Amino acid sequence: MIPSLLPTYNRAPLSFVQGEGSWLTEADGRRFLDLGAGIAVNALGHAHPELIAALSAQAGKIWHLSNLYQIPQQQALADKLVEETFAQTVFFTNSGTEACELAVKMARKHWHDKGQPERVEIITFEGSFHGRSAAGIAAAGSEKMTKGFGPILGGFTHLPWGDHEALRAAVSETTAAILIEPVQGEGGIRPLPDQCLKGLRALCDETGALLILDEVQCGVGRTGKLFAHEWAGITPDIMMVAKGIGGGFPLGAVLATEAAASGMVAGTHGSTYGGNPLACAVGLKVMEIVSQPAFLAEVNARAGGLRQKLEGLVAAHPDVFEEVRGTGLMLGLKCKVAPADLVAAGYEAGVLSVPAADNVVRLLPALNITECDISEAVARLDKAASAVSEGLKA
Ligand SMILES: *Cc1c(COP(=O)(O)O)cnc(C)c1O
Repeated sequence: MIPSLLPTYNRAPLSFVQGEGSWLTEADGRRFLDLGAGIAVNALGHAHPELIAALSAQAGKIWHLSNLYQIPQQQALADKLVEETFAQTVFFTNSGTEACELAVKMARKHWHDKGQPERVEIITFEGSFHGRSAAGIAAAGSEKMTKGFGPILGGFTHLPWGDHEALRAAVSETTAAILIEPVQGEGGIRPLPDQCLKGLRALCDETGALLILDEVQCGVGRTGKLFAHEWAGITPDIMMVAKGIGGGFPLGAVLATEAAASGMVAGTHGSTYGGNPLACAVGLKVMEIVSQPAFLAEVNARAGGLRQKLEGLVAAHPDVFEEVRGTGLMLGLKCKVAPADLVAAGYEAGVLSVPAADNVVRLLPALNITECDISEAVARLDKAASAVSEGLKA
């Protein structure tokens, strides 16, 4: 018999009743250090007092307003994003996958309105993840995501990761945009080297193709800059944001330049909940905190400390780990064992991590995780690795 919850997830037998900072607690009082942060969503940890205050204050006033009306919280968050980034305009969604839908529509509409309706092709990369909608799975293109779901949305070209020749050859007069994650998340924490991001920008400038960056997982302070592309000193034409920006409240956004967004006039797109007052009140508070240079400096300091400790962990367990990879607080432990085994051993040791492709275990802690919690988390990962190692010998 099918469970009352559609069984699309293999859920761990863990059930949390309270969160605080980087800690999650089960009903029986067992505490876990959370290095998954809801897959990079709880950017400021659990139960952050300022986010609770922002949400509670808004909850006492208005929960929902149609986009038929002015929504001041939405306007304030858009202004803040425009102030802090390359973007001149913002559309709010409830998720990353909805941001992907709009990014693809926006790029195609741009060329349609410029009198080049044949420019519909979007170039994407193997190992990428852009969400589970029809456009999202078509963009990623893997069989795992698309098989069995009927005709796949057309107009996507999938290229191998890191093949510069193939990329150059693939861009043509029908290319609308190149879509890429500056740091692949689900694909196994694979950062795109700064040189490559610069090269992509140059290629787009040369050919006119729009550069769409998916910063749903790597954005909002995760890499130690407000957005990951800032490390390369380039800007995209369109950017997808979600996960961390809501700090745990469902919120996503598409940021764009005026030129890229030129086709999106009244009536061309919409969302009932997108830019909801509750979500935007929380999102504005997240942005106010994360965009502070001092906060980002702290993220980089913590990231350096965590990385150093993880290098030690890898060196101590050469039978379990291959390497540490990633950037900022978006780190991966490349494993020689099944990542699920390490994650499961982590549950026993009281630490939460997230498996990814390419045999990687992801560590995406809250951006404000304390030094003390980092030390404790690595000690628990060490315990988990020892248990996995014992299992290999047995
Ligand atoms: C999670 C994710 C998405 C999809 O976001 P949802 O909010 O789950 O729809 C898209 N792109 C990337 C890079 C992601 O990590």
